Amino acid sequence: TEVSRSSRKLFERAKRVFPGGTTRTTIMFRDHPIYLNRGDGARVFDEDGHSYIDFANNFTTLIHGHCFGPVTEAAIAQLNLGSCFANPTSSEIDLAELIVSRVPSIDQIRFVNTGTEAVMFAIKAARAFTGRHKIAKFEGAYHGAYDWAEVSETTTPDGNNLNPPARANYIGMPPSVTSEVVVLPFNDLERTRSILSEQECSLAAIVVDTMPSRPGLIPLKSEYVELLNEYAQKNDTLIISDEVLNFRLGYHGAAQRFGLRADLTTLGKVIGGGMPIGAIGGREEIVWVFDSSRGSVVPQGGTFAANPVSMVAGHASLIALDRPAFERLEVLGDYARRSVERLSRDLGCTLSATGLGSLIRLHPKARPPSTYAQYFQSPAEKQFMQDLHFALLERGILISNTGLIALSTPMNESHIDALTAKLEDAIVSEGLFR
Ligand code: PMP
Repeated sequence: TEVSRSSRKLFERAKRVFPGGTTRTTIMFRDHPIYLNRGDGARVFDEDGHSYIDFANNFTTLIHGHCFGPVTEAAIAQLNLGSCFANPTSSEIDLAELIVSRVPSIDQIRFVNTGTEAVMFAIKAARAFTGRHKIAKFEGAYHGAYDWAEVSETTTPDGNNLNPPARANYIGMPPSVTSEVVVLPFNDLERTRSILSEQECSLAAIVVDTMPSRPGLIPLKSEYVELLNEYAQKNDTLIISDEVLNFRLGYHGAAQRFGLRADLTTLGKVIGGGMPIGAIGGREEIVWVFDSSRGSVVPQGGTFAANPVSMVAGHASLIALDRPAFERLEVLGDYARRSVERLSRDLGCTLSATGLGSLIRLHPKARPPSTYAQYFQSPAEKQFMQDLHFALLERGILISNTGLIALSTPMNESHIDALTAKLEDAIVSEGLFR
């Protein structure tokens, strides 16, 4: 239609130079994507002049929203001094010290550019440290694009409760990769215990996201965390806490909040203040594998690793993400989840919300799911979520295509009230009842 003429025209150009017209598989659209050209706090603006409240925040990255003053100023000041060097800068020490001071399980850290790289190097470190090659991960969980971390990123839960298969993520993935990954059904204590009992002392690491977003943004049960802690200790298996997304769950990180005994922690997104970043932190005796002065068991580098623009932007972002900021986000997140529940009750529709703190995920289910099997969506439910996503977009609300909502510090109750009102309008006037 005429209302999105500019986006439509841009997509025509994009289709000629990008396969599928985009450079990220996570861009979802009907006829064409909405091209944004500006953000400001909790709002973004598209090429056709429409404005949206941004609950996507680049897949949870922008915890202070767009153009947050301290981050922008720090990044511009650094750009005027130079964007990257072959030598270290003091900015990397500043950010490292800040993270080490906040996260109890991190003695030392290395910086990379993405969460994918962080997970890759953490797995390599665990292999080098233990001398084992196999890893375990959760069914449905996303950890970036390192082959082993990609196994069973999408699976269909088996109605007969068979063990989740190690599934290749693309045609041509070497079968050796799937044979080196053990897949666990998270929050299912019985099955996980039985699968792990067959893996005595064979796993280098279990990659754990304490609230994996793709399979439902469902928090791990405390008994489940306990099971993982016990297995890891008994079998000299390392726990990699993947907090690329969930570091924003607490001042001390996600593992601390859940009581998970992390040996290695992977970080990304919020620690870069909106600039590209990733990090691998851990206990000193483990991360020494990266120490090239001792012979570098695991070579780790990267042209843009610890680039000072990401370092200063991340530092400014984390300084502003102080304890009061976390407390405010926690209250606002609870308010959002309660608001969705109330709306669902009032309308008598099957809509529920999971999540903790500043992260919320909407589900086309009467009750919030607590396992992957409960989360799993039928084609009709998937369609409902897509329709909801687009109906909200038309009403000036941007959420992630999976129904993931990430709050930012410039938001207050009025933004949540707008979300609830638009949800109601979308469901009622578009007849999206389920
Ligand atoms: N791990 C988790 C838990 C993630 O959510 C993501 C990205 N959404 C990644 C790893 C990969 O991070 P990146 O996109 O920066 O490579």
